[in-house]
Amino acid sequence: MTNLDGKTALVTGSTSGIGLAIAKGLAHAGANVVLNGFGDKNEIEEIRKTLQDCSERTILYSDADMSKPDEISNMIAQTKSAFGTVDILVNNAGIQHVSPIETFPPEKWDAIMAINLTSAFHTTRHCLADMKSAGWGRIVNIASAHSLVASPFKSAYVAAKHGLVGLTKTVALECAENGVTVNAISPGYVLTPLVEKQIPDTAKARGISEESVKKDILLAAQPTKQFVDVDEITQSLLFLCSPAARNITGTNLSIDGGWTAQ
Ligand code: NAD
Repeated sequence: MTNLDGKTALVTGSTSGIGLAIAKGLAHAGANVVLNGFGDKNEIEEIRKTLQDCSERTILYSDADMSKPDEISNMIAQTKSAFGTVDILVNNAGIQHVSPIETFPPEKWDAIMAINLTSAFHTTRHCLADMKSAGWGRIVNIASAHSLVASPFKSAYVAAKHGLVGLTKTVALECAENGVTVNAISPGYVLTPLVEKQIPDTAKARGISEESVKKDILLAAQPTKQFVDVDEITQSLLFLCSPAARNITGTNLSIDGGWTAQ
């Protein structure tokens, strides 16, 4: 089991879904964790406190908006002031919007680019120098099967996720000699609020029922015919943080039930 005692992890978009599962996994592996994301303040405080109590690590929360570069800078400054450094950076925050490109709202395009791609540029540029000086660091970007293949009506998301993998490879090369690895994980469909919310829009865009979206669109893409579980992503991320993965860098690890093998 990966031992992350003494490390500090920052997981963007970790108040829900995949990010929350990753934050829990990192804390149980021994890391102090900074949570980030939106939601009900009381519920987030409950998540923070419960995780701190059961992991016996320090768990902090930042409400920084990943579409705002100043808030990203402040979040990292606060993390450094609390823990000294960020050793493990997980760029996970993401949103989706499903629409034909002719009617795709430009403000949704901008928001998806800012949150799903540009935020990773800002977090990385603020954290990398310390990781290089320490001679150890892990950056994991949560991309998607849509970093490798496209689906109609998801132009911004597909473009942002392809871009995130380009960023992953570039940064991996820039710190390859410094003990810092940079990888992407590309899940197929995971039943989180992000996917549940897009089912009605996909049904509307394609003129089919919501049940048919699940069966004939989402799971049709995955040869295993199973949704991916958040714990599968967490376990792979913990492996990427382990000493055994020190020579794995610049990769894009698919966890997609065979989707992109087709
Ligand atoms: P989710 O909706 O459950 O969680 C998204 C998280 O991002 C939440 O914590 C939310 O508060 C946060 N967030 C949204 N906008 C933010 C902002 N402006 N600033 C800070 N935080 C913000 O979604 P999820 O399915 O867990 O997705 C997590 C990541 O995994 C995303 O990058 C998504 O693209 C990727 N992904 C998801 C799936 C899937 O099927 N669910 C598949 C492949 C990739």
